[in-house]
Amino acid sequence: MARRFRISTTGRVGPPRWWWVIIHESLKEMRHAGARWPHNSETDFGEAEGLCQPINWWENDDEPGIRYYPETGYAGVLRFVTDHIHAEIVAHELVHAAVAVYRMNCSSDACLGEDYGDEEEDLAYIYGELFASFQDSF
Ligand SMILES: [Zn+2]
Repeated sequence: MARRFRISTTGRVGPPRWWWVIIHESLKEMRHAGARWPHNSETDFGEAEGLCQPINWWENDDEPGIRYYPETGYAGVLRFVTDHIHAEIVAHELVHAAVAVYRMNCSSDACLGEDYGDEEEDLAYIYGELFASFQDSF
């Protein structure tokens, strides 16, 4: 790991949520760390140049259907690689983080299908491309 820091929302929309951002030394190190993340539903990150890994929610037996998250506001981990970090990748992963926080704070149904399904992935790519284009022109 080359570097680690926290980013967070302010609480304007629901409780504040914070993420660890971990900058790894290599793609291999990042993909290996991503595969060991205990909240994973998948473990093959052979193509990934960045990862957004939200924390799991849980339900109370007395209130089925209501999702609970850590009261600390901890939301998960964003992973990048020193030599592969650029605006489009950061913007792409932050869309996943924003959608995850939306699901935590507002509605589990973000109308984007399943977590990291095709719809959410398309949104992340579109935003990433727009942000990179903006940055190139600014
Ligand atoms: Zn993605």
